[in-house]
Amino acid sequence: DPAALVQMLFSLGEMVTATESVNDETLELLGEELNYVVQVVSPEDEDRELLESFDIDFGADEGGEDDLAHRPPVVTVMGHVDHGKTRLLDALRNANVGDKEAGGITQHIGAYQVTTEVDGSERPITFIDTPGHEAFTAMRARGAQATDIAILVVAADDGVMPQTVEALNHAKAAGVPIVVAVNKIDKEQADPTKVRGQLSEYGLVPEEYGGDTMFVDVSAKAGLHLDKLLEAVVLTADASLDLRANPNMDAQGLVVEAHLDRGRGPVATILVQRGTLRVGDSIVAGPAHGRVRAMLDEYGNELEVAEPSRPAMVLGLSSVPGAGQNFIVVEDDRMARQIAEKREARERAAMQAKRRVRRTLEDFMASMEKGESQELNLILKGDVSGSVEALEDSLAQIDVGDEVTLRVIDRGVGAITETNVDLAAASDAIIIGFNVRPQGKAAQMADKEGVEIRYYSVIYQAIEEIEAALKGMLKPEY
Ligand code: GDP
Repeated sequence: DPAALVQMLFSLGEMVTATESVNDETLELLGEELNYVVQVVSPEDEDRELLESFDIDFGADEGGEDDLAHRPPVVTVMGHVDHGKTRLLDALRNANVGDKEAGGITQHIGAYQVTTEVDGSERPITFIDTPGHEAFTAMRARGAQATDIAILVVAADDGVMPQTVEALNHAKAAGVPIVVAVNKIDKEQADPTKVRGQLSEYGLVPEEYGGDTMFVDVSAKAGLHLDKLLEAVVLTADASLDLRANPNMDAQGLVVEAHLDRGRGPVATILVQRGTLRVGDSIVAGPAHGRVRAMLDEYGNELEVAEPSRPAMVLGLSSVPGAGQNFIVVEDDRMARQIAEKREARERAAMQAKRRVRRTLEDFMASMEKGESQELNLILKGDVSGSVEALEDSLAQIDVGDEVTLRVIDRGVGAITETNVDLAAASDAIIIGFNVRPQGKAAQMADKEGVEIRYYSVIYQAIEEIEAALKGMLKPEY
């Protein structure tokens, strides 16, 4: 009885109403009062239990010492905004293309590998291609640690800034060694010595001052000393980490990035952490399952196998998994499907329990005005493929400036389905129905999940309203 619970919570010193949430501690206290044992289980623990019931031990390098082989370090680039993280990632990626794949164009798949020569031997390094510590933190929040080494980028003309400190704290908390890239040394105002002094105060003392952190002066723009930076990464890995994994087991690892591709279906970039992934393997990645139909590297080349620390784009999954979720190779398709179904059911239950906040075009506008939201996700459904394409083309032509991103995460012909609503709920998207209506329980579900469906029968009207919302001019609907 909610009223009785509120009363009881009140006597425990918690002033709450029946619809409010309480913290874990209070929940445990409440359990004691009621003679229940309350066990708070994290989603990660719950998932570990699920996998154990299938005899799978995620994270364990099976086999002994002899089975372990060296693997390349996995690197994340962090630092203050505008200090050159993106530019550095681009420069490192492109510098390597020249050597290896003459004329090859690297695609953004979420991670890439480069090689550098250190002491006469070729040493690969894997980069996670999403700059900033948000990605790093999001993965850690899911209990996943993908990063072995962090490159902390500090602009030499700007010095240590708040996000520099934040980033270094994140890396320290995760126990990840840091290599400092002092960037923009091509600039006249560059003062790399000052950066060294500033960071020493935060415990990152340069080697040349007797500390154990490697600092490399670089210019992402001019392509200066990038080889030295790569060498510093390798040397830091050799000095402080023992990076080894068993390549001879069923592959396990993490999803780095995933999306729905118009032609290829769900596409996920995974990072193999142990074992070797092969085309034809049955895998489960988060709530998605399937058989690896094909694997591509960052040059678009097909891969037959992916060994530890190798990022690869995987085709053949049933749905789109989330970044930071784990993937595992399992015995057969049946087991993959069973695990995926259990995970999906749990995700759905958790989502419903959260009582979704309604997401509307008006909400988007309000949060954009507050500077919170910069991304509007849309799902387009239309009666004929021509109208969907016309809608998408016109949307692409809206000039939204640099601040906001308009992203069409899915499109299709036909009625709005429950699957559409599911995807919209999971990615905070709004559904645009052009001359179509919801089918079956889709409308009911949208209502429950707080997904807005907007209906149109004239293209320019749809475009006008979306454009207005993006520019913060939408009139409220009553
Ligand atoms: P992020 O926010 O850390 O990803 O920074 P960006 O990579 O977007 O870089 C911010 C700005 O600094 C861009 O205009 C870059 O072109 C510029 N920039 C990045 N690296 C260098 C560099 O080494 N030298 C100079 N002069 N400009 C740079």
